[in-house]
Amino acid sequence: MFDFVFIDNGLVSKRSASISVFDGGFLYGDGIFETLRSHGGKVFALDRHLDRLFASARALRYELGFDRGYVEKAVYKTLKKNLISTKDAYIKIIISRGQYKNRLDIYSAKKPRLIIMASKLKEGKNMQAKGSKLISSTIRREPFTSGLYRHKLLNYLENILAKNQALRSKADDAIFLTKDRYILECSTSNIFCVRGRKVLTPPLNQYILAGITRETVIDICRKERIRLAERKIHYSDLIRADEVFITNSLIGLRQVSDIDIHPIGKGLAGPVTSMLRDKYYELARP
Ligand code: PMP
Repeated sequence: MFDFVFIDNGLVSKRSASISVFDGGFLYGDGIFETLRSHGGKVFALDRHLDRLFASARALRYELGFDRGYVEKAVYKTLKKNLISTKDAYIKIIISRGQYKNRLDIYSAKKPRLIIMASKLKEGKNMQAKGSKLISSTIRREPFTSGLYRHKLLNYLENILAKNQALRSKADDAIFLTKDRYILECSTSNIFCVRGRKVLTPPLNQYILAGITRETVIDICRKERIRLAERKIHYSDLIRADEVFITNSLIGLRQVSDIDIHPIGKGLAGPVTSMLRDKYYELARP
């Protein structure tokens, strides 16, 4: 597990992998991250993850002293040093703003930090056929109130609290809803439903994360000529859907078997979910 960690310009053993308590990431949650996975050494959609990371870095005005090529090489070096270049692995890339010289003045933080960790995943882990149980989080989010939901911020506490509402209810994830009960996303995944043969997912203008897996599923739908619409979905329509599935980089696509007290479909992956999942793994696996 995370034997060697890449920090700024090289790999260090996990014992000496540390960041200052004065770092803005620690003091203020001022940092961004990406979670990726590799399948047999093939890092899935690294380009798209770097696009998102660097787009967030620009939007949040990090003055990076490194470019995408540098991060890409560092990811592969980290896999190699941890002896997981040909394995299934969990990879995390973190950028923090570094130390502020003047309190809360972002331009006084001149040296963002780059951290990369990777550890082996059990073969096939997170890909079991069992459906996920979701609950609706009591945390309500309103679209247009904060553009920050578009970024994967080190301040992940709202997601963690929602996820823990799910865990305490023996569920797998929690859905964020608006106060009018439109669904947004889950604490660690995007959400889709299928009605008839049409795939629906909430649009990005609701200020949700532009999930890399979400984008990949949308691409597959376009390529396979499956009807897809990005549009607002009400909770009452979600629980009546034929199929519901969630997506993220670690689980890929996973069918949902229950939402709160409502069973969804027949509990097993429905035909559209299964087909999309197969196509997704054709892309992701070596
Ligand atoms: N929404 C949220 C809030 C998330 O934390 C994640 C996990 N990164 C996702 C969606 C899914 O994103 P991705 O497909 O890029 O892993």
